Amino acid sequence: MSHTRSIRELASDLAAKKISAVELTEHFLKRIAAHDERLNTLISRNEESARERAAAIDAGDNAGAALAGLPIAHKDIFCTRGVRTSCGSRMLDNFVAPYDATVVERLAGAGTVTLGKTNMDEFAMGSSNETSFYGSVRNPWNTDYVPGGSSGGSAAAVAAGLVPAATGSDTGGSIRQPAALCGVTGIKPTYGRVSRYGMIAFASSLDQGGCFARSAEDCAAVLQAMSGFDARDSTSVEREVPDYSAVLDSQGDDFLEGLKVGLPKEYFAEGLDDASRKVIEAAIAEFEARGAEIVEITLPHTDLAVSTYYVLAPAEASSNLARFDGVRYGYRCENPVDLEDLYTRSRGEGFGREVQRRIMVGAYVLSAGYYDAYYLKAQKTRRLIARDFSDAFENVDLIAAPVTQAPAFKLGEKLDDPVSMYLNDVYTLPASLAGLPGMSVPAGFVDGLPVGLQLLAPWFEESRLLGAAHAYQQSTDWHTKRPAGFE
Ligand code: GLN
Repeated sequence: MSHTRSIRELASDLAAKKISAVELTEHFLKRIAAHDERLNTLISRNEESARERAAAIDAGDNAGAALAGLPIAHKDIFCTRGVRTSCGSRMLDNFVAPYDATVVERLAGAGTVTLGKTNMDEFAMGSSNETSFYGSVRNPWNTDYVPGGSSGGSAAAVAAGLVPAATGSDTGGSIRQPAALCGVTGIKPTYGRVSRYGMIAFASSLDQGGCFARSAEDCAAVLQAMSGFDARDSTSVEREVPDYSAVLDSQGDDFLEGLKVGLPKEYFAEGLDDASRKVIEAAIAEFEARGAEIVEITLPHTDLAVSTYYVLAPAEASSNLARFDGVRYGYRCENPVDLEDLYTRSRGEGFGREVQRRIMVGAYVLSAGYYDAYYLKAQKTRRLIARDFSDAFENVDLIAAPVTQAPAFKLGEKLDDPVSMYLNDVYTLPASLAGLPGMSVPAGFVDGLPVGLQLLAPWFEESRLLGAAHAYQQSTDWHTKRPAGFE
C-alpha cells in the first residue's frame, strides 16, 4: 500500500516507474476522499491541478528530481499561485495569491505534486486547531480529541496517511506540538534555514517553516528540498545546507554512542503528566542503551518563556496583521459608511476572537506608556532564555525533553480558557524564542494517544537532530504505528 511506504521507497518506485505519479496521486486523492470528511485536515483541495501536474511529471517534467511525483500538502499559510491561501481565516477566505512561497516553489522544483492546503489555527495562533475559520481538525487517533496546532491539519493528514508529507510552520511550537499529538515526526529547523518568503507572517522574528512526515528519514528528504538561502527573505541565512539524507545514510549504528544528551530539569518538573513522563523516560533509556550519555542540565529561565512569548508574538502580530484593512485584499465588509467603518467592520468581521485578542494585547504592549514595561522587558528575557541554551550546549550535544505536558486534550476542553491554552506551550516556546532547531519524534502512547519526544540541537545542527531521531527510529517502531480506521 503506497501510503504505508516511506518517501524513499516511493521515490525509488517512481524513479523505476514501478508506479506512476498519476497512480500515486490517485491513491492519495482516494484516501482524502474517503477520510477527510471526518478529519477536516484540508481547507482546499486541488484534485484537477494535481492530476495534471502528476501527468506532466509522468511525461518528463522534473525528471530526475529528488521527489519527482511525490504527493504533498502545504499548510495554508504558504502562498500558492492559483489555489486559495486562507491562513485559516475568514479574512483571506477569498484570497488567491499571485505567486508561490519559496517553500512551495522549491518543493515543486523537487518534483512534488500538491494535493491541497492544510487546515490550521487562524493566522497560526493556537495550539488545538480550534481557532480555524474552517472548523477544527480531528485527531485520527481519537476523533474526539484535538490534533494540536497550529499546523494540526498537516500533522493529522500525515498521521492518517492522506499524504506522505506536509509542510508546516512553527512560531512557538506549531510543528512540534501537533506532531507529538498526532504521532508523526516533525522538524522545525533553525530560524533562517527555511525562507519565510510567501509564508504569511504571524511573528516574523519567530516564524519558521518546516515539515511533517512519518520518520526522520522522510523529514530529511523534504527538509532538504525546502532549505537554503533566499534573497527574498532578509532573515534567511546564507549558509550551506548539508545533504541530510546522505548524512543519515553514512551514519553507522553507533550514532548515539558517546553523544551527550542533556535533560533540562525544568521540563521534568511539576506539570508533566505521570504517564507521559514514563513514556519520555523509556525513550531516554533507549538513547542510553544505544550509548548516549545522559546528563541533567538546567535552563533556568524556562519559566519566563510563556510570558515572554505571549508579549512578543502578539506585538509582532499586531504589526503584521495591520495590512488586512479591507482595502487592498481579503475580506471587506458590506456597505461601509466611511473609511473608519470600513476598517473597523472589515477587521471585526474578518478576524476571529483569538486573532483579535492577540492584536489587542500586541497593540497594548507596544503602546507608548507600556512599551518599556512589557515589550522591552520581554526582549531582555528572550535574551536570557537564548543564553540558557548557549550555555547548555557548551556541555551537551543535544537536549531531550517532552514536547507537551500531556497527550492531546478533548475538542472544546480549553477553548474558553486562553491562559490554559497558552500554558500548553511551555516546553516548545523556549527553543522558538532562541531560534533553535527542534523535532518531535513519536515515543509511545498514553491511553491510545501518542506522546512525542522533543529533541533540540544547537543552531544549524539539523543533521544532528535528524541523525539522533533516525538512530532512535532504527530500534523503535512508534513512528510506524497507524491509527485504527486509517490503516
Ligand atoms: N501555540 C502558539 C500560539 O498560539 C504557537 C503557535 C505557532 O507556533 N504558530 O501562538
